[in-house]
Amino acid sequence: MKKIDEILEKALAEKKLNFEEVVFLLSQRDKDEIKRIHEAARMLRTRYFDNRIFAYGFVYFSTFCHNECTFCFYRYSNAQSLRYRKNRDEIIDLSKALAESGVHLIDLTMGEDDLFLTNPDYFLEMVKAVKESTGLPVMISPGKVSEQLLDKFMDAGVSWYALYQETYNRELYRKMRLNQDFDQRMNKKRKARAKGFLLEEGLLTGIGDTIEDRATAMLEMGSLGVSQVRTMTFVPQKGTPLENLTPTDSRNELLNISVLRLLYPDKLIPASLDVEGLIGLADRLMAGANVVTSIIPPQEGLAGVSQSSLDIDDGSRSLPKIMPTLEACGLTLATTAEYEAFLEQEKAKQDCEKLEQGAS
Ligand code: SF4
Repeated sequence: MKKIDEILEKALAEKKLNFEEVVFLLSQRDKDEIKRIHEAARMLRTRYFDNRIFAYGFVYFSTFCHNECTFCFYRYSNAQSLRYRKNRDEIIDLSKALAESGVHLIDLTMGEDDLFLTNPDYFLEMVKAVKESTGLPVMISPGKVSEQLLDKFMDAGVSWYALYQETYNRELYRKMRLNQDFDQRMNKKRKARAKGFLLEEGLLTGIGDTIEDRATAMLEMGSLGVSQVRTMTFVPQKGTPLENLTPTDSRNELLNISVLRLLYPDKLIPASLDVEGLIGLADRLMAGANVVTSIIPPQEGLAGVSQSSLDIDDGSRSLPKIMPTLEACGLTLATTAEYEAFLEQEKAKQDCEKLEQGAS
């Protein structure tokens, strides 16, 4: 039996792949072999999610940030960056419009904006109001926040905390996330999960990472107890130290998506509109992704993270525009009840783990 057959058979039997096997899969360059990896990923997605796809509304409510991540358009010192800050009522209205369009979750994202971080009550009240007015689960992506604030977000019923490491190569991390401690960021995620949040982890590719780096990250992120794992291709950003880094195509991202699906068959894996826009959606779904992320209302002055404007104002990142792609891929939008059932299932798993840890 060929090595790839053995590995895919093992993955389909849901036996944990080891480092060498993950590296082997990520190293494939032959189109037919890659196609087989994507097919195996889709089989596992179907096993757990049938043909259902989830959709996340994205509200990037403040692009101010005190950090200097070298890969990011919104780093503090970038004079070319698009800066805006939405107020409470605008954020609520945008979230309601997304909810009415049919998304399953509102993702409230900001840079590490001191205005919100030093006014935690205002921040918390805004998040509560979004949850109440939309009736939808909420994900927060505010960067590193205090333990106390995390507790309050938990009490307010926030479901998800997203905090992306982007790489597990500590040297590369040091160059990417300037003056931000690797372990503190990891511990923040562990603590958030222990408080009951579902976690989303993220991995950038095409930023000087090796296949071994990606394999290490993919395997290690499992130990955080992640419920959603996203991978995105780095897009060089104007006005940043990595502006002139040669961009890569999406092949590694697509392989990453499939291998993540083989490693975490029952988890959520995004097909982000924030790399190639609508045109790149089908490839990501066919690689095994099951959540369309970065759905942004048009003409509202909102930005994306990697692609600040691509496909936003013409409405191509809206739910009606992505539906034909879902259909063409043989997929359909899940119901709200199906998304809530997934969340309950993940929470129940966390509760069981806690009980087991308490008993041991
Ligand atoms: S990646 Fe996030 S934390 Fe880093 S500069 Fe950009 S917005 Fe700030």
